[in-house]
Amino acid sequence: MDKAKALEQLKSELVEDTSLPLRESNLVFGEGNPDAQVMFIGEAPGFYEDREGRPFVGQAGKLLNKLIEEIGWQREEVYITNIVKRRPPANRDPLPEEIEAYDPYLKTQIEILNPKIIAPLGRFSMNYFLPYAKISKDQGQVFWWQGKLIYPLYHPAAALRSTAVLENLKKSFRELPRLVKDFDKLLAARESINIESPSDPEVPEINQSKLF
Ligand code: URA
Repeated sequence: MDKAKALEQLKSELVEDTSLPLRESNLVFGEGNPDAQVMFIGEAPGFYEDREGRPFVGQAGKLLNKLIEEIGWQREEVYITNIVKRRPPANRDPLPEEIEAYDPYLKTQIEILNPKIIAPLGRFSMNYFLPYAKISKDQGQVFWWQGKLIYPLYHPAAALRSTAVLENLKKSFRELPRLVKDFDKLLAARESINIESPSDPEVPEINQSKLF
């Protein structure tokens, strides 16, 4: 089955799954190029996303579009989704049980898309992949998770509230084309040093930002 069909099927499964929380909100499955090399993953839909059924279409989404365009890409060539696929009431943070409930769907979505790079936006999404990472320290650093390069970024909504965060986010964004270009080299370098995931849970994955 091709990726677009597999994603459609996954979406239907999500619609039909009555065990999921937040079913009073609309489904915001995700959108973009099924063959994208880069997948951006936010936290959960907000008001405008719920209304339109599309991820990142409010103010934070406008900034995300601008950041994507500033590095010479188009929104349509990447894939954008959230860890939780429906809006929590009053835009509250997603609860651990909500993240857990939507987890199998996100995992399958990642499996289908099979991107080289996952850029979690904000700490909730970052901690989904890297439970012990801290956003201020680890944004813009390179991690590995199941053969994929994880590149945590500040959430665009945080960048709308702070110029310093915006500057950091822009700076980290500017590295993305190079990470895509050098992906094979980075992966090979990682494999050649044959680093296993460390047993210390405080160090969730090997940070290889020094390698390039
Ligand atoms: N914030 C998110 O985390 N996701 C969206 O889709 C919109 C805003």
